[in-house]
Order: sequence, then structure tokens, then C-alpha cells
Amino acid sequence: MRKIVATELLTVGEAFEVLVFLGLERLPNLGEEIRTSRFVRTSGGGAVITAVAAARLGLRCAVWSGLGDEAVQRLERDGVVVHNLKRRSEAPAISVALSTSDNRTFVTYNGVNDLLEARLLAAAPRIRSQHAHFAFFPSDCRLWIPVLERCRRRGITTSWDFGWNEALLADPAFAALLQEIDLLLLNEQEARLYSRRRTLPAALQFWRQSAHPVIVKLGADGSRWISRHLDLHAPAPRTRVVDTTGAGDAFNGGFLYAFLRGQAPAAALRLGNRVGALSTRAPGGLDGLPDAADLPRALLRAAHARNVLR
Ligand code: ADP
Repeated sequence: MRKIVATELLTVGEAFEVLVFLGLERLPNLGEEIRTSRFVRTSGGGAVITAVAAARLGLRCAVWSGLGDEAVQRLERDGVVVHNLKRRSEAPAISVALSTSDNRTFVTYNGVNDLLEARLLAAAPRIRSQHAHFAFFPSDCRLWIPVLERCRRRGITTSWDFGWNEALLADPAFAALLQEIDLLLLNEQEARLYSRRRTLPAALQFWRQSAHPVIVKLGADGSRWISRHLDLHAPAPRTRVVDTTGAGDAFNGGFLYAFLRGQAPAAALRLGNRVGALSTRAPGGLDGLPDAADLPRALLRAAHARNVLR
């Protein structure tokens, strides 16, 4: 009989098939064709990258998303349990990236992602995991508040990475949704956007008043944990960067691994930084992700093997 193993981390959100045209001398002008001999095909989206990053370190992960065949294969290869909300006849989302040495530009076909939020909401009462990580921006925050309330009642801790989306500022329920999230993950630009502050110090001051801890990812400067009683900064390791796409989602995987294994906030920031930095070694968010064997044992060691959010 197959043994049923409880999921430690469930990631919920969008996925993309990603086609990256690399090493372009410049971006094409209107009507122009530019050729390159360097091309990478990979999968992306926060739910996919964060689940793979955490699974490769040894966390038992599941993902809920609308996934193409390649993403499903990739996730299963890394031991992630897949709940595919895309039907056979539907197309996955596809993102095309044109990449020069100092610039990138994207076009995305939404595919199944246009239908995803309604399906995720319908499935939400079945969330069962130690922790649920949401990686998309909700079109109506009001609808997600009961989902988070239910998670809390069942002892499931939650985190959310909204990405950059100005429309959230106009959603009257956004502030109430933030109150329900146990751990909010932002990058520097998002920390300023969602606090409506122009500078980073002013934004950090704003997030310090939050009901729950906020993690701010600072690119090459590392990351920061901010809460009413604790303010920590962890520098990132120096890296030779090939492509930073997905570094934030990779960080989330490393950070959540450490956190769910009971490590202290400073150690969780350090592991998040390490995984985020390593992810920049290769194009896309997946190919540079480390295995547990690539990392010093001390970074992965469980502290007291319990979820310290509750
Ligand atoms: P996002 O990808 O969401 O914009 P960041 O650019 O802040 O987020 O990157 C997330 C994390 O990845 C950072 O907090 C850091 O740990 C790591 N990282 C990103 N860029 C670099 C870099 N150039 N050098 C070292 N680490 C990096």
C-alpha cells in the first residue's frame, strides 16, 4: 500500500512555459527580425519555482497551478506532488523573453491563467499542508480572506508573494487581506509600492508596524526580516550573475524550507539568500537551483523541527 506523506509546503499560483532568447546584441526594432544561437526553454512562475527550490532541499512539497506538460514533468522529477488545474484541451501560459546583456523584454500569453483564480478558489477548502504559500495577485482580495481565515483555524500557516501589481492598491480589501497573512514576502520595489512610500527606509518603517513579519528581498544586498520586535539584515553571497529571473521565488523556497524546519529568522534569511543567489547562475528560475548536497550542512540543519509562526 502506498504510504501517504503529509505535505509540508503547498504552493498556489500561476505557472508559465518560458522561452528565453539569449545573448541578443540589442532588442529588435519594429518589423525587424534578430537571430541568436542561444535559447533556453524552461518553466516559471512563483508557485513552480518556490516548490522546486524547497523540494530540492528536502521539503515535502505540492503545487496547485495550471501547468503544461514540461512543467509537470519537471516538478515530478523533483518530487513535487502536482495538482494540475489545467484541463487537457486548454493551453498553458507562455512567456517569451528577449534578453540582451543588460535588458530584457517579455510578451506573455495568459492561456489557462485567465481561468486559474476561480479554480483555485473553488479548490481552496481542500488545502491541507503544514504551510500554504500563495504566489499570484488576487483580482478581488475580499474572496481570499475566508481562505486564509480557514487556514488559520486549521493550524496551516500562510505566506504570500504578490509580485508587482499596482491594481492591488485600488482594492479596498487589500489591507484586510494583509492582516491575515502570516508572512509577507516582498522585493524592494514592492515594499515601496504597497506601503505607498517613496524611499526604502520609509517603507521599512511602515512595514515595521505590521501585525505579522515581513520579508524584504534586496537583490545583491540580501534580505531583511522586519517585525515589531525584530529587524534583521542578512547580506547575500557574491555571485557571478547570468540571469536574475525567478531569484525572488527561489529565495522564497530556501527561506520557507528553513522556516518550516524550525530555523531562526536569521538562518532562514541566510538560506533564502543562498538559494536566491545560486538561482542566478543559469537562465530562468529553475536550472541554477541547488540540491541539499550543494549546500553546507549547517545551513540546512533543523533547529527544533516546528513551525515557529504559531
Ligand atoms: P525579485 O527577484 O523578487 O525581484 P530580488 O532581486 O531581491 O527579488 O532577489 C531575491 C533574492 O535573490 C535576494 O534577496 C538575494 O538573496 C538573491 N539575489 C538576487 N540578485 C542577487 C545578486 N545579484 N547577487 C546575490 N544574490 C542575489
